[in-house]
Parts: sequence; structure tokens; C-alpha cells
Amino acid sequence: MNVALLYRGPLASCNYACGYCPFARHRASAAELEADRAALAADRAALAADRAELAADRAALARFVAFLRDWRGVPLAVLFTPRGEALHHAHYQAAIGELSRLPGVARVAIQTNLSVAPEAWLEGADPARVGVWASYHPAQTSRQGFLARCESLRRRGVRFSVGMVGKRELIDELEAMRAALPEEVYLWVNAFKHEGGELSPEERARVEAIDPLFSCSTVHATRGRRCLAGERSLAVAGDGTLRRCHFVAEPLGSLYAPGDLERALAPRPCPAPSCRCHLGYLYLEELGLLERFGDGFLERAPERPWRVLSPRRP
Ligand code: SF4
Ligand code: SF4
Repeated sequence: MNVALLYRGPLASCNYACGYCPFARHRASAAELEADRAALAADRAALAADRAELAADRAALARFVAFLRDWRGVPLAVLFTPRGEALHHAHYQAAIGELSRLPGVARVAIQTNLSVAPEAWLEGADPARVGVWASYHPAQTSRQGFLARCESLRRRGVRFSVGMVGKRELIDELEAMRAALPEEVYLWVNAFKHEGGELSPEERARVEAIDPLFSCSTVHATRGRRCLAGERSLAVAGDGTLRRCHFVAEPLGSLYAPGDLERALAPRPCPAPSCRCHLGYLYLEELGLLERFGDGFLERAPERPWRVLSPRRP
């Protein structure tokens, strides 16, 4: 398994407006803007900030791609983990295409809401080396439209997973999506870890019939536990700062300083009290999730049929 770089640049915006997400798009209504000049000025300031953020994001990604273009070490795996949606920006589309063909990159994957049709951004990419971690948000898009984009990925030979939030009111839709997806595609479910998100035993049983690993989607007590984040993977910020994961702030050097990448990779226990995101607890050794996902660990798509998956019991 290749060492994975989990890249997250300055981008922090999305074209969708999911109620449970801090990166959802916010737009004041025309009436509000007319009624309040201050709101208009604030909107203009926000627009300027958005442009600056995008310019910074573009420059940071260009530097990251240039580093990988020159990388001559053991091939690395890359997962884009943006705050928000990245694939509707041309610089990410171009980066996926180029990285999928570089000798120094074993595989490139991205978390996306799949709002952009794959034919728009897979042109020029090697589909066999691209992975997609797709999330489906039924309040923002139609099931049929989303399934058509999944079919486009499947036809092109791109390995992908599909996921949803396990909210009580979405269980019917989860079951409908499971029934509509090709049998081999894994549909993961993230627990809704907010107040009121607890499922009844019956609701839980319905969700676990869809995602046998649903019980792993919880808040894990992790301080002192062995975690392979920082040994098998590193988080990379837009400025190149290396961290063992997105959830431990301590910097481990810079991707762009010679030798720092190799020095940063080392076994260490987890220093954080808890870990609540698949991007993190995937590497928690006691859960054995890396083995279950195998080569599909980047895009959360298990190598083996999803029906035979089961959480590791202590
Ligand atoms: S699609 Fe994802 S990033 Fe965008 S608003 Fe919804 S949850 Fe947030
Ligand atoms: S358990 Fe989570 S927070 Fe702790 S080191 Fe691993 S990924 Fe980071």
C-alpha cells in the first residue's frame, strides 16, 4: 500500500447548501440586499474574499502538483479532501488528469458531491488510476441525475464509492439508492453525530443492512491508541505543512523542505482524545479498516464485495 497524502488547500466553499455543513453556499436574497446596503457591501467584500481564496488555492495546488511532477521516490497516493467542493474548479480538474499520469503518483482520488459530470473532468486522465469518494445529498440533487454520473464513472472504469448521511429521515432514500446502485458499488453511511441523530434499534438495523461498517462511524476514544496516520499517510496543507492527520495540529515539517516527508513518517500513538471522521479512524489499527478497504482505501471502496464486510470485534 502506498503512502497517502491527504491534500487540503485554502478552498472552503461549495456549490451545494446542505444544512448540516459549514462549507455550504450562503447567498442573501435580492430583497434582503435591496433593503440593506450594508449587506450589499458585505456581499461584495465576501465576493472579493472568495476571489482571493480561489487565487491562493490555485497557487497552492500548482505548487503541490509541481512537487509531485518532480518526485522520484516511491510512488505516492493522493487524496483531495477539500473543505467544500473542488471539482467545479478547473485547476482541480486539470490536477486530477495530470496526477493520474505521473510516474511518482500511484493513484489519485477526490472527495466530491459529483455535481460535475465525469466526462467534463476525466478527459486526459488515466481512469484506472483515479478514485472517487462521492457523497449523495438528496436535498441538493436528484437521484436519477446522481446515478447517471455514477454510471458514467462505471463505464469509464473509475473505482468509486457512494455515501450518504445516516439521518433518520433519509433512511428510505438510502434504501432506494442501495437498490438503484450496481451491486458491486459500496454505499457507505456516515452517522449523523449531532443532537437528535441517534437512531432507534430498528432504524439502525435498516442502515446496517446497507453499510455493514456503519458501527465504525462513531466517535472513537483514541488517546494513546496505535494509529497508522502519520506512518501510512500524512495530511498536507496548502502551504505544504505536513501533519499526521487533519485532526492533530502539530506540524511535522514541510512537504517542500527536502527530507521532511521521509522524516515525518513514523509510528506514534494518537495524542487526541477522540477521532470522529472516517479520514482519521480509517488508520486506527484496532479497527482493521485499512485491511478491509485494501487498494480502495483512498476512495473508501473496499476491494472485496461490500456484503462480506464486517467490523472487527475486540
Ligand atoms: S456537498 Fe458536501 S461540502 Fe457541499 S455543502 Fe453538502 S456536505 Fe458540505
Ligand atoms: S486516531 Fe484520528 S486523530 Fe488520532 S492520530 Fe489517528 S487520525 Fe489522527
